[in-house]
Amino acid sequence: MKSNKLHFATRTIHSGYDPHQNHGALTPPMHTSSTFAFNSVEQGGAAFAGDNDHYIYSRLGTPSQQQLEQRLADLEEAEAALVTASGMGAITSAIWSLVEPGDEIIADKSLYGCTFSFFEHGLKKFGVAVNYVDLSTPQFLSEHITDKTKLVYTESPSNPNMRLVDIAAVAKITRQYGIKFMVDNTFCTPYLQNPIALGADIVVHSATKYLGGHGDLIAGVVAGSAEVLLHIRQYGLKDMTGAVISGHDVALLMRGLKTLHVRMDRHCENAQKVAGYLQTSPYVKQINYPGLANFPQAELAKKQMRQPGGMIAFELNGSREQAADFVNQLELILCAVSLGDTESLIQHPASMTHSTYTEEELIAHLISPSLLRLSVGLEHVDDIIADLDQALESVFNGGSGNKGLSALA
Ligand SMILES: *Cc1c(COP(=O)(O)O)cnc(C)c1O
Repeated sequence: MKSNKLHFATRTIHSGYDPHQNHGALTPPMHTSSTFAFNSVEQGGAAFAGDNDHYIYSRLGTPSQQQLEQRLADLEEAEAALVTASGMGAITSAIWSLVEPGDEIIADKSLYGCTFSFFEHGLKKFGVAVNYVDLSTPQFLSEHITDKTKLVYTESPSNPNMRLVDIAAVAKITRQYGIKFMVDNTFCTPYLQNPIALGADIVVHSATKYLGGHGDLIAGVVAGSAEVLLHIRQYGLKDMTGAVISGHDVALLMRGLKTLHVRMDRHCENAQKVAGYLQTSPYVKQINYPGLANFPQAELAKKQMRQPGGMIAFELNGSREQAADFVNQLELILCAVSLGDTESLIQHPASMTHSTYTEEELIAHLISPSLLRLSVGLEHVDDIIADLDQALESVFNGGSGNKGLSALA
């Protein structure tokens, strides 16, 4: 099947799997076997030598994992993909495969909290330096590149504050210098943005979020060239992290992926309306949502993202305590980390996902102490807005807001 000729929606459902090769089974069989039997020592030896494509052991892959990887590679417009036990498993397996002691990484200033912890507490301990640069102004990137720089790393939009990085502009520079460029595409998914098509070399994901989409699994993805992916699979994943996905999670992820495009459309539609509501509230100071006309990088959002996504970062016109009180007053929207689920989730990064940062680090990494991160779910948007409204009224106006949701509590 020439799957690149088909539309994205069709590829999320069909790519990489043919029922007719699998006893007609509409849903891919789930492989949970840890090992695979050979019919002879010679056949086993040839498999280890790479002279046949017999499966060996599930740390190296299984048939259903391979189907999922083909689908993800296709969606990310990459030659190859690898699924892992978590997003951090994807990021660490990939980066351990690419750097050596003495190397330097240039990373954007704002990053997912555990990626930052890995850089600070993992890589540095083994002699890999990380230089945090504001990549939202890529014209200055060259000034930071040295002959030790091996990798440029960014998220776009970034977690938690929704800053964008011009992927094509950074890729143009990394190509000139022969440096690898890795993009965490978790917030967009390949439905909204394809970093490889924009010039990046490697894409990583937390598939726990929108790709899985139902809050019932933890998984990660690495996508890129076949050559780099083989190295990451056979070295970073097999020997260094062992962050192997389970067969059950392969099946769940394959199922979640089939509705990615439908879910993302609704996440974006709901988030646009929620951002519009927040903009009208006197209690909200600042909203970072790429779909708002006054978003500082609105032009860039239009250039590299097909839609603005389902994540909103915002600050209240109040103290850090009032921000916490607001979250505590919500009745429908759950206070939880993670994102991209059917349920709307909100969290306070300075207390939660980015709590390992010192006050100075929060400021240096552009995370305001009163920032809130909202993952807009798939509930009816009027109910999401009513909940935000009653919680804002309760914090700032003594609780005269919409109490219609208390029936749910
Ligand atoms: C959640 C997340 C990760 C880590 O993924 P896990 O699946 O939790 O290990 C990495 N990057 C971003 C942007 C995330 O949101």
